[in-house]
Amino acid sequence: MLSRQINILQGPRKVLQKLKKILDAGLMRIIHLAAEFAPIAKAGGLGEVVTGLAREETRAGETVEVIIPKYDFINIPSLQLEVPEFKCLQSGQLHSNAMWSTTQEGCSLHLLEARHPAGYFHRSKIYGCEDDIPRFIYFTKAALEYLSLKKEPIDTLHIHDWHVALAAPLLKDLFKHLPVKSVLLTIHNLEHQGKCAAWDLDAINLNGTSYLAPAKLQDNSPLYPQTINLLKGGIVYADAITTVSPTYAKEILTPAYGFTLDTTLRQHMKKLTGILNGIDPNLWDPAKDPVLPKPYGRESSLSAILSAKETARESLQKKLGLPANKRPWIGAITRLVPQKGPELIEAALSHTLERDGAFLLLGSSPIPDIQTHFQTLKEKYASNKQAFLHFEYDENLAHLIFAALDFLIVPSHFEPCGLTQIIAMRYGTLPIVRATGGLKDTVFDCEDPTIPSAKRNGFLFEKPTPSAIHQTIDRAINLMHSDQATFQSVIRRAIQIDSSWKAPSREYLQLYREIIKK
Ligand code: ADP
Repeated sequence: MLSRQINILQGPRKVLQKLKKILDAGLMRIIHLAAEFAPIAKAGGLGEVVTGLAREETRAGETVEVIIPKYDFINIPSLQLEVPEFKCLQSGQLHSNAMWSTTQEGCSLHLLEARHPAGYFHRSKIYGCEDDIPRFIYFTKAALEYLSLKKEPIDTLHIHDWHVALAAPLLKDLFKHLPVKSVLLTIHNLEHQGKCAAWDLDAINLNGTSYLAPAKLQDNSPLYPQTINLLKGGIVYADAITTVSPTYAKEILTPAYGFTLDTTLRQHMKKLTGILNGIDPNLWDPAKDPVLPKPYGRESSLSAILSAKETARESLQKKLGLPANKRPWIGAITRLVPQKGPELIEAALSHTLERDGAFLLLGSSPIPDIQTHFQTLKEKYASNKQAFLHFEYDENLAHLIFAALDFLIVPSHFEPCGLTQIIAMRYGTLPIVRATGGLKDTVFDCEDPTIPSAKRNGFLFEKPTPSAIHQTIDRAINLMHSDQATFQSVIRRAIQIDSSWKAPSREYLQLYREIIKK
């Protein structure tokens, strides 16, 4: 009886201890500034990361707000007009904007409506417009105008990627008056840097030429000394820089992965850390996934997991006309861009078919040559029912494929973190990945004797060559066919991995506290 009373008391005591901890540490006001927020505005991993991290920080008790552009494809009935009008200067003209607010995915979300004559966010897509540079420079400046209007102190302005990196130099220049205590830049992908001309800065009343210096925003490529590099601006002026995995944080300090910014990153390396991404449990949980015909999860028995995966396969078989009983099912869900190793995906496709498996590719390319090449490949395999190539962005189909596959390949040449291998494991699908960046931090080879067996969860290869991916696919298939017990125990292990935002968000909160103190 007494012990039961103590147990009952322990509940509230724990809550009180947590509250005390939060109060001792002091509540923080954190603003995320980004181009994406999943699922309402998602082009890839960035949107998922912003949502997952902001939600977990909110759960931890911090005051967290997210600002993104109000793309006209966003349709949220609960939107409230927060600020009916505020101005932002560009090219000598004051343009009108409005701020809309709502709560989405457990986060406080602001959508900035730019009533700009160029219709900056009245497009059907997030990126890939010719005027991406002025669009996002404008968004960044207008967001700071909104924060100036609010006048509320901000502990950390967390900026994501090149689209909003200019906020860091802007806060040292036109927006010095803003009560922002610290700026954190997260680099989700160093390849995209936002290169432009000095007059793009002049257009928003910065003195563009004054930033054309090696220690400022001048692009590092000797070929383009007149070029401004927006991401470099974030690296130079932010108080701290993170990237999305510890291995990628090391890789980007080298010329091979640095896209010419490695020199700047080495100069600022004291500010740089790698924090591994989590995945959003609201988006990715096979136990609650409405797309799956039969739910399954960590708590399920192995036989229930295998049977639910089989049901997902049957459902896809019917939907896509794939032949029954051709195993393994291997696939990729990806943007088809050079980073992701499209030539290695092609090599994996042909090899899987040679091994009498089925291959499912869900991915489209913003690069016409790559898209045409894969279209030709689809025609080549048109009569082969074991090959399914689909070039749309289809969220529901992605969920079903993650559940149905035996193996997911991620043969990237570089990979800052990569979410698909983490999602795959959550769905009991084993990853076959190249040993780079976040792939190396999340996947541990099943046959590597130097890795404790309790950690082994997939397959890795080093060299980005067709023969390396062939051999690795062979290893995976052999394990599946010749050692079901080990294969199934690896599935069990993969599904158990804690890929939530809990640990990463704690690291971010700790980092905010460190930079606010300075
Ligand atoms: P990146 O951000 O470089 O594109 P990530 O692996 O970090 O790569 O994240 C990709 C995200 O986009 C994953 O959630 C993946 O499921 C999703 N995705 C990629 N291509 C498609 C597609 N064609 N259809 C649906 N989802 C896709």
